[in-house]
Amino acid sequence: MMFEAPRWMRGPARYEDGWVEINRAEAETYDLMTVGDEAFFDFVAIDGAEDAVQFAQHYGLLRQGPDSGELRESFIVWKEEIDHLAAALGRYYLLLRAATGKKGALDALWGLQDTIASVFEQDAATDEELMAQVTMIIGGDVSAGLLNSPLALRGLVEYEEGALPGLFAFAPRSPHLLAHVYYLFALLLLEHKPLDMCTHCLRYFPRIDARQRYCSPECSQRRRWRTWDEKHRHGRRRKQK
Ligand SMILES: [Zn+2]
Repeated sequence: MMFEAPRWMRGPARYEDGWVEINRAEAETYDLMTVGDEAFFDFVAIDGAEDAVQFAQHYGLLRQGPDSGELRESFIVWKEEIDHLAAALGRYYLLLRAATGKKGALDALWGLQDTIASVFEQDAATDEELMAQVTMIIGGDVSAGLLNSPLALRGLVEYEEGALPGLFAFAPRSPHLLAHVYYLFALLLLEHKPLDMCTHCLRYFPRIDARQRYCSPECSQRRRWRTWDEKHRHGRRRKQK
């Protein structure tokens, strides 16, 4: 029997009175496995209704899809999910930096100890114990998000253009987009991709090049403009004196 691809629904969206809503008449269904890790980073970077509408247009709602009676969700619930995942990602970012000896990151992890201590019988006594506990917390958080996603195996040819026949990947049958976002986070952790924070917009992004400081060409450009603008204005102010 062929694996049944997890389908989801996206389309023109709007925000009204605290609700994110998709227009079903104009929505389309798509295969969740075609979504890359940008969906995860877009999700944790949502900072208000406008971002949520854009996200819904690109990827859909979190739990309501093709089989749902109505296609609208409370933005307050979105915000809780965003904050939860952003906190997990933030801990992972600190962990990566602490593991490479960044003192500030280690201090920040110790600052989290009160919130994680309740999970363990014993408080961490050393840096290593603390980092081990944070690792387990992150694993637990992501596992909770994957709870209802049965594991399957898919040929890459099913969802990757130009993939070689005979190559396979673990692929969950995600019950909804939110579960799939957790799967994308899990992949990020498994692949141990270097993670960085954009110096312009503070958004997390997977760093491909060691010299990369911005999440996107847009941020790099905006930063250049701002620097230019600041210098320019300071120059003018000096002249006015
Ligand atoms: Zn940025």
